[in-house]
Amino acid sequence: MGNFLSEELINEIKDANEIIDVISQYIQVKKVGSSYKALCPFHNEKTPSFIINQEKQIYKCFGCGEGGDVISFIMKMENLDFIESVKLLAGRANIEINRTESLENIKRRLKEKSLYYEINRKAGLYFYDNLTKQPNPALKYLSERGITSKTLTSFGLGYSMDSWDNLMLYLQKEGYNLDDIQKCGLIRSNKSDGYYDYFRNRIMFPIFNTKGDVTGFGGRVIDDSMPKYLNSPETLVFNKSNILYGLNFARKNIRNGQIILVEGYMDVIALHQADFKNAVASLGTSLTEYQGRLLKKYCDEIIICFDGDEAGTKATMRNLDILSKVDCRFRIMVLPDDRDPDDFIKLYGRDEFQEHIDKSMSLIDYKIFLTKNKYPGNTIEDRVGLAKEVSNIIKDIKSPVEREAYIEKIANETGISKESIRLEVLDKVKSTFVYKNNLKRGSDYKRSNNYIEMVPLAEQKGHIIAEKQLIKFMITDNKLIKHILNNVSAEDFSVTEHQEIVAYLASNMDNMKDKEIENLFPHLEENINKILSTDIEYIDLNNTLDKYIVNLKKYKLLYNIRILEEEQHNIVNSSNLTEEEVESKLLDIGIKIMKKNAQIQKLKSSMKGG
Ligand SMILES: [Zn+2]
Repeated sequence: MGNFLSEELINEIKDANEIIDVISQYIQVKKVGSSYKALCPFHNEKTPSFIINQEKQIYKCFGCGEGGDVISFIMKMENLDFIESVKLLAGRANIEINRTESLENIKRRLKEKSLYYEINRKAGLYFYDNLTKQPNPALKYLSERGITSKTLTSFGLGYSMDSWDNLMLYLQKEGYNLDDIQKCGLIRSNKSDGYYDYFRNRIMFPIFNTKGDVTGFGGRVIDDSMPKYLNSPETLVFNKSNILYGLNFARKNIRNGQIILVEGYMDVIALHQADFKNAVASLGTSLTEYQGRLLKKYCDEIIICFDGDEAGTKATMRNLDILSKVDCRFRIMVLPDDRDPDDFIKLYGRDEFQEHIDKSMSLIDYKIFLTKNKYPGNTIEDRVGLAKEVSNIIKDIKSPVEREAYIEKIANETGISKESIRLEVLDKVKSTFVYKNNLKRGSDYKRSNNYIEMVPLAEQKGHIIAEKQLIKFMITDNKLIKHILNNVSAEDFSVTEHQEIVAYLASNMDNMKDKEIENLFPHLEENINKILSTDIEYIDLNNTLDKYIVNLKKYKLLYNIRILEEEQHNIVNSSNLTEEEVESKLLDIGIKIMKKNAQIQKLKSSMKGG
């Protein structure tokens, strides 16, 4: 108890709580050159005079004079006393405060840590000598991959020999005991064989923390044996979920505010060698929130560059989730032909790689890119599938202007009309937005939900079928053209090709000859054949026909209602209208919506009656 606030323990807790990380949780910290600035949380100011010194782990406000270390910041910010602040920081760093832990214990733990760093460093140098002082398969492999000796040295790469006790004997000779070597994760033991080396016949990648200590190793096979990569087990100094490979270099070489996140050790090394020294990798697992926050601390934006295969795509999505969670900006870089960064740079050079960094995609663009790969075909079914899924993506865009730009882009690419895609997007947006003043304004303005039967593009394959059926009626029986076009027009069709055919039929209805149609639209031959092979229910021609016509009309009315509803939504959220103006505008639109709903009801009852 008496030793609760030993200096060692306090230092350990301070070490584990990087000051910029802690302060960033309370206020917005901006990196300016090599220092960090913020608006002081302790006095009122408009220009930042609150400076954080990362190297010394202290802060100082030149406006009000406040200053201190991470503990005094918490004391002031949380209004806690010293002990409570230390406890809060210990909890934040997952350091268990054992009230009865003696000073001796704490000292021993710190001593153990520095011993393990020392053993790891010795092991690293030993592996390095193995690699560089004599011919061996690892060196052959690395030089075949084009890794230079300068790179070998800066990353401290090494080779664990094809032996069961090589490293163990060496470290023993250097004076370390088996128990400590095992606690570093470098040897293992079992009953029948006793102690043996953990890494055998592998290329060794020492893993440094940001202070430059060797915390553990990654080992890669040279042949095809499994597992391909083996990491040190968790030890007192090695926790793979809070360390990033290459960060010790990358943090000093941030380029354009960016860090490039790649899949593996070799990617980091290849990029480093090509002068992209801002590359890091997680250790064979997806990012943790801790790693996400760590990255955020050193850069403004993460560029994710993973393999384009299925596994790489999945890993990218998982990492995006984590980076969003910790509120970190990111973009996604996709290399052509599933190339990894190493291959790519060898083939196309570093300038081309930089161009791909500059072209990397936002989350929305990336999701659309993936969806396009899912629906590569040009059939109507594929395009409807694409439009449907992309609409679901676009709905998350908050800016209406940006959303409209995407709607236009997708309409052009799929040939599905803008109206239909907009309807689909609005339908999805609507289910997520709430009218702010709905309750306050009373029931007059509530959406008359029960009148609206949803027929969005997504669920309405029936709608596309209706379009096809109507065209088929008109092509196979020219007498029907007039009847149908008295009720619907080309613009009521949602697919561009359908509009094109119907427009032609409309202007030529008096001199149509059935077989011409394919010749007139050679580029639509496949579509027309599909239309003609669609089954028509001949049971009750008139009734069926009307059903399709009603379907199209209803679709159009629903579309108009959605537009009016969005208008209402905008009015409710508008800041430059008076209360009365809002009331009267909402009423006007409400009446229009009622009329449209009445038309839909009329359409429905005409169906039942006829
Ligand atoms: Zn201040």
